[in-house]
Amino acid sequence: MPDLVKLSEIQSELEPFHAVLVAVSKTKPVEDILTVYKQGQADFGENYVQELVDKHKQLPDTIRWHFIGHLQSNKVKLIAPFVSLIHGADSSKLIEEISKQAIKNNRVIDILLQVHIASEETKFGFSIDECSQYFNEFITSPLPGIQIRGLMGMASFTEDTNIIRKEFQKLNQLFKLLHTASINSKNNFNILSMGMSSDYKIALEEGSTMVRIGSMIFGGRR
Ligand SMILES: *Cc1c(COP(=O)(O)O)cnc(C)c1O
Repeated sequence: MPDLVKLSEIQSELEPFHAVLVAVSKTKPVEDILTVYKQGQADFGENYVQELVDKHKQLPDTIRWHFIGHLQSNKVKLIAPFVSLIHGADSSKLIEEISKQAIKNNRVIDILLQVHIASEETKFGFSIDECSQYFNEFITSPLPGIQIRGLMGMASFTEDTNIIRKEFQKLNQLFKLLHTASINSKNNFNILSMGMSSDYKIALEEGSTMVRIGSMIFGGRR
């Protein structure tokens, strides 16, 4: 069962920051999503393509679905008709495929560039330098059907809040830089997606505009 008290606590914590809550519902049943949806929560995040496709079919059309996991190019077509925001755009090849599928579906798909800010090797994403280079190239010659709405990043898996804070600061610095660069482009570049259950308070203090919270709302995952 989702924790609705916690949910409303988080919703009011976000208010002064004008930050958006993405309720991360991966591995959780549609009943739980409906329960949370009925509390006025419309943004949900999923990590697995097939699971997202199945849930989208069963749940209200008014839900905004966020894809927050690692997306394989050959699966973009499955979510392209309905996805609201793709957080994990982490390579030029993937973004080209999203552009192709957006055109096929006659829509513009919003994406966030995923930036690798953590010390762990395994996490996906552009480096800071790659990201600003990619974004500047994109502004000069945009891909049709794509709007780059901002950046997404995950901090290191550590108890050391100083490390987490520094990583979020680094991402926010890049965000501000690219925001300035974007001003004369058509991208509505204003989303900084950072913060999960364990670190969203730090993320908000460091400029997050969108947090992705799962276990704190839906309970732990096996
Ligand atoms: C699972 C996941 C989350 C949510 O994590 P919790 O710790 O359950 O809040 C956020 N972002 C990404 C990319 C995830 O994969």
